[in-house]
Amino acid sequence: MSKTCIIIGASHAAAQLAPSLRQEGWDGKIIVLGDEPYLPYHRPPLSKAFLAGDTTPEKLLIRNQAIYEKNDIEFKLGVRVESIDRSHKTLTLDNGEVMSYDKLALCTGSRVRTVSLPGVELGGIHYLRDISDVEKIKEDVAEGANAVIVGGGYIGLETAASLKKQGMNVTVLEMAPRVLARVTAPELSEFYTRVHSDEGVSIKTGVAVAGFEGDGKVQRVTCADGTHFDADLVVIGVGIVPNVELAEAAGLEVENGVVVDQYARTNDPDIVAAGDVTNHPNALYDIRLRLESVPNATDQAKSAAASICGNEKVYSSLPWFWSDQYDLKLQIAGLSQGYDEVIIRGDKDGSRSFVAFYLKEGKLISADCVNRPQEFMVSKKLIAENISVDPAKLADESIAPKELLAG
Ligand SMILES: Cc1cc2nc3c(=O)[nH]c(=O)nc-3n(C[C@H](O)[C@H](O)[C@H](O)COP(=O)(O)OP(=O)(O)OC[C@H]3O[C@@H](n4cnc5c(N)ncnc54)[C@H](O)[C@@H]3O)c2cc1C
Repeated sequence: MSKTCIIIGASHAAAQLAPSLRQEGWDGKIIVLGDEPYLPYHRPPLSKAFLAGDTTPEKLLIRNQAIYEKNDIEFKLGVRVESIDRSHKTLTLDNGEVMSYDKLALCTGSRVRTVSLPGVELGGIHYLRDISDVEKIKEDVAEGANAVIVGGGYIGLETAASLKKQGMNVTVLEMAPRVLARVTAPELSEFYTRVHSDEGVSIKTGVAVAGFEGDGKVQRVTCADGTHFDADLVVIGVGIVPNVELAEAAGLEVENGVVVDQYARTNDPDIVAAGDVTNHPNALYDIRLRLESVPNATDQAKSAAASICGNEKVYSSLPWFWSDQYDLKLQIAGLSQGYDEVIIRGDKDGSRSFVAFYLKEGKLISADCVNRPQEFMVSKKLIAENISVDPAKLADESIAPKELLAG
């Protein structure tokens, strides 16, 4: 009898895992269950081109329906998996349906971290995670009106740039002393603060939001220091939390994500997990970590598909990310946590193109490349292949990026 593999969650990880199963030789059924009403779509453009009005939901699809049909991949959308019974190998959906599986893949991703401040339920206050969130935000976008972004991380800053492009007066409120404090060096924070201010976005740091006021709809954001900001639209971007509850209730090992090994296997031999939801090992940095990025979801899904088919494909990619704001493409190679030195290549104060190389004990561990695609490609290689480079060469613009590969 034909076996069934069920994938829970229909986003980046699932869109890779399902076709990869066929490539790895799975000839049974593949069913993808997702609680959103769409086929898997690219999430990154939501705060960028989609919010800015430069693309449509149809263009966001990761693969078109024909590809899934060709690979005999079935979707059940708009349904939520409520529980997993590992002893009977069944799932229960929110419509009461019970489904049996032979192999299961958890691709449940993450959701926004919410705040419980007074007035947060007022109209005009939004989070940003999926298409429907952006469609609601767009209803409140109006030229000349005031937008307040709570949180100066990548999503907050991208949202600020997209709303500015549509003629809104935009203010970003960040609690930390600088934007992007959790993920980059002060040099990058200063750069993005300058660029946003040049573009007319006001960035306020060291500001704790205390609540929201308005009559049915938000009119004001109040802060702990007594200041307040007029607001017709508020977008809150204060991070995400992994969707681990299903796994936890099923008795799978969970610790800051669903715990998996380098083959994306959980502690149940019939269950794998991939994407934002996992806590996985990274051999290059010799740590366990949870990543929030598309390349992570895609690459780990390939390992998960191999494991389901009894093959072994180690997931050991170098983490990388990107962020688009205005005309700036930031590409980040590796993880900068624990750096003790930052080397700048290019003019970060007067231009819109430079690199921040992060070193730890003289070794390159990460690079933030702003409008520098060549340095990004080279940095990925330098870090992944552990090639050591004289720090003076990293800073020297007279040395072509490719020449750095000589070490
Ligand atoms: C606005 C925005 C901008 C971003 N920009 C970038 C970027 O520039 N670069 C980058 O690398 N990454 C970016 N990311 C992060 C990236 O989108 C995520 O890392 C990626 O989507 C993770 O994919 P995933 O498949 O693991 O999970 P998710 O995309 O979170 O998808 C999980 C899916 O599973 C569904 N689900 C959860 N539980 C259940 C259940 N019980 N039953 C049914 N369905 C369920 C969820 O509703 C969701 O649809 C961005 C994210 C956002 C929100």
